[in-house]
Amino acid sequence: MKNFIIIAGPCSIENMDMALSTANFLSQLKIEYFRANIYKIRTYPDSFQGLGIKGIPILREIKEKFSLKIVTEINDTGQLNKELLNIVDIIQIGARNMQNTHLLKSLGKINKPILLKRGISATLDEWVAAGKYIINSGNNNIIFCERGIRCYEHSTRNVLDINWPLILKERVNKPVILDPSHSCGNRKLVNKISLVSRFIGLDGIMVEVHPDPDNALSDGAQSLDFNTFTKLIKDLENIKPLSI
Ligand code: PEP
Ligand code: MN
Repeated sequence: MKNFIIIAGPCSIENMDMALSTANFLSQLKIEYFRANIYKIRTYPDSFQGLGIKGIPILREIKEKFSLKIVTEINDTGQLNKELLNIVDIIQIGARNMQNTHLLKSLGKINKPILLKRGISATLDEWVAAGKYIINSGNNNIIFCERGIRCYEHSTRNVLDINWPLILKERVNKPVILDPSHSCGNRKLVNKISLVSRFIGLDGIMVEVHPDPDNALSDGAQSLDFNTFTKLIKDLENIKPLSI
């Protein structure tokens, strides 16, 4: 979509079949970026931890079969190897690593955009500072991704104030996108909040999409099924961003 980045895909790559069916669906919808996480950071040790290195052949297969660009999270400098870098187009740094300054500094030498998510309890100042760690070490190519913060309100998974990404955009002069899946934690809200983000002039969204959300190994409650995501894309095309 013109002037609006759409990154979509499952919370985690679970196996080859679901990855291929999701990639096929997204490429038919002409989505540019496939969210394809193999290294997960989970709160509970008993939860699915991602395929890890075993997921790399799946990412490679997707890259070969489709013209999708691959967005994947890394959480350790050791994962930044040549094999992964040959496949990946955007590197995601998750909320829990926003202040891992050692990791941030290592991204300065990488010639790829970094999708920097806001930390779970980070202020805007701290988030901007995290971006500076990457910039100061040599990589100016950053996309900031708002995903809400921890607060006392629990009716949504995190708390999102729609002012924040707008304020950040003025401060950093970089693309700022919204992750409605992790900010709401509820698939019923994802389409509406995504439309709002385009209307108010944000630069894009990252949305979790799964072939069978009720049986997803992670974050099923906030993942869209294919029909709901298709409706979102149609509706987004009808939204004209505010020009003020
Ligand atoms: C994710 O996007 O997969 C994720 C875990 O989100 P966050 O880092 O924002 O919690
Ligand atoms: Mn998730």
